Amino acid sequence: MPGGADTDPALVPDLPALDAAVSECRACPRLVAWREEVAATRRAAFRDETYWGRPVPGFGATDARLLIVGLAPAAHGANRTGRMFTGDRSGDVLYAALHAVGLASQPTAVAADDGLELAGTRITAPVRCAPPENKPTPAERDRCRPWLARELALLRGTLRAVVVLGGFGWQALLPVLATADPAGGHPGWVVPRPRPAFGHAVHVTLEPADAAAAAPLELFGCYHVSQQNTFTGRLTPAMLEAVLADAARAAGLDPAPPVRHSD
Ligand code: SF4
Repeated sequence: MPGGADTDPALVPDLPALDAAVSECRACPRLVAWREEVAATRRAAFRDETYWGRPVPGFGATDARLLIVGLAPAAHGANRTGRMFTGDRSGDVLYAALHAVGLASQPTAVAADDGLELAGTRITAPVRCAPPENKPTPAERDRCRPWLARELALLRGTLRAVVVLGGFGWQALLPVLATADPAGGHPGWVVPRPRPAFGHAVHVTLEPADAAAAAPLELFGCYHVSQQNTFTGRLTPAMLEAVLADAARAAGLDPAPPVRHSD
């Protein structure tokens, strides 16, 4: 289990229990110090708020057919609000797109109690604590992997498609997908060698290691919704909505037609 965590992720029985357990993890000294320092000092605009300042659990349906995998919580976004991609500009872009294709009940995400619901979709990250400069180390990524592995294992019965936002998440996720559930419930998916390279709108179908035991998984790449990408136009709303709509369709959900954009 993640060193220093009180709970072995592999033993957590369901997603609500996993969400509660990961929130207590203190396995990465550098990230624990950073998330708590940010929560104590706060940004001026949020100085009257109480920051979450802890690991951020996955958000959305517990029987999701579609999973969205990011990078890590933002210092003043999810680390403040306690919900993935909530309360920052990256989340503004992501939830507007999810709403445009019919996967989110509202286009905005400002606080954990704002009423937002996702349809058949869950959002998670391979690193659950906000890292300095949005850059977790490889050791921190690997230490956090059992949480993601267990989340995937608990979704295995319904999961049919994954959208990975950015190359970091892609690299972190592929080994998890290729690994069989240690509890024996899922054989894992076959990841081709060499591993498929990350790219925007890349789509790879992963066959299960045992076709009788599991369904294929449709894997999609998408540029991350960071301001670096969205402010420069590298990722436009139309590009994001197109990937989300394709993935939703592949997952057996019924997305709305993407909104027409002038970009
Ligand atoms: S990054 Fe993951 S493993 Fe490290 S302290 Fe946070 S939740 Fe625990």
